Amino acid sequence: MGKVLIIGAGGVGTVVAHKVAQNPDVFTDIMIASRTKSKCDAIVEAIGNPNIKTAQVDADQVNELISLFNSFRPDIVINVALPYQDLTIMEACLKTGVNYLDTANYEPKDVAHFEYSWQWAYKKRFEDAGLTAILGCGFDPGVSGVYTAYAAKHHFDEIQYLDIVDCNAGNHHKAFATNFNPEINIREITQNGRYYENGQWVTTKPLEIHKALTYPNIGPRESYLLYHEELESLVKNFPSIKRARFWMTFGQEYLTHLRVIQDIGMARIDPIDYNGMKIVPLQFLKAVLPNPQDLGENYDGETSIGCRIRGLKDGKEHTYYIYNNCSHQAAYKETGMQGVSYTTGVPAMIGAMMFLKGLWKRPGVWNVEEFDPDPFMEQLNKQGLPWHEVMDEDLEL
Ligand code: NDP
Repeated sequence: MGKVLIIGAGGVGTVVAHKVAQNPDVFTDIMIASRTKSKCDAIVEAIGNPNIKTAQVDADQVNELISLFNSFRPDIVINVALPYQDLTIMEACLKTGVNYLDTANYEPKDVAHFEYSWQWAYKKRFEDAGLTAILGCGFDPGVSGVYTAYAAKHHFDEIQYLDIVDCNAGNHHKAFATNFNPEINIREITQNGRYYENGQWVTTKPLEIHKALTYPNIGPRESYLLYHEELESLVKNFPSIKRARFWMTFGQEYLTHLRVIQDIGMARIDPIDYNGMKIVPLQFLKAVLPNPQDLGENYDGETSIGCRIRGLKDGKEHTYYIYNNCSHQAAYKETGMQGVSYTTGVPAMIGAMMFLKGLWKRPGVWNVEEFDPDPFMEQLNKQGLPWHEVMDEDLEL
């Protein structure tokens, strides 16, 4: 059905490659390209399909991307490199007539700030070129938006309160490690919190608001209010929302390490002088922390991510909770990666599948909730991320 180019050979890229290879009726030609080609080759070896091509590319360089796209001629690029590369890859897509999908919105390297404005600004150019760009197609953002669209389509006339709840109740048996790229992860968590209420954004201190929430099959876990990028698109695309928040669980050990990292200046993202060289402390820290890709083997427990929604149907108030639980060990057995990479990589593959099947093909730049959620939801059940619904129970929020 179509040719796919995966950019990025980290934890998420590895899962995307496995899942794409499991669906050969849709993905007829596959290439994995990244900064370090040996990592792409190792993925191909693990999958055991020598027909998957690999290439080296620096995705910060539009010209390098253009040559690669012109030689492989993909129908769609799945960008699972880092958020810093979103704009260069989108530029190269426009220059070569390739469609685009990613899992995280653009962030400039020198400011820990993420918002959709930079990528939404490409809408007209993608429209004019007749190309589709699908933004934020991991789990959160990604499935969180599809769940919301599904709830709006099937269960509510008006969604009023939305809480996205993300619990990782797994244990990797390391003193401190992040579940995806440590630099991106620590930048996200150490920012101010932010949520949407009555048409306005309310800012909190980092991790200031927290409460215990009960997760299915897991139990109560302390959950912290963070800003997360899908809130920005969801309140725009579902204007009936009065309040939208995002919660993530953290253990005490993790938070203590994080506090020390910040207190000693290791979370800084500005370059400092070290022995006559410029280094960025957070990038140095990444080099000494465990690699998220190596956590899978000893990871037990599961993740539970979902949407808790309150709103109106036929004039009556209802509550709705939709979620997926994902076992780290099951993810590892299937792909060699832990559950956080798995829950991101599977939806990225499904988004590309939706595009190639013509179901999510529409010139312009779109967030996932702007497409029909039904065929995506059907694939979630088939591709390893089954979902469950709870109607009219206490949401705790
Ligand atoms: P990793 O750090 O494990 O992998 C990133 C990959 O991108 C590495 O292979 C890296 O190459 C490659 N890369 C980095 N810079 C460049 C460049 N300039 N050119 C080419 N390749 C480059 O990250 P993850 O796999 O954990 O995360 C991937 C993406 O997924 C991130 O954007 C992250 O924000 C997003 N994500 C989204 C989630 C969601 O639910 N929506 C959840 C988790 C992650 P090298 O190996 O040489 O360093």
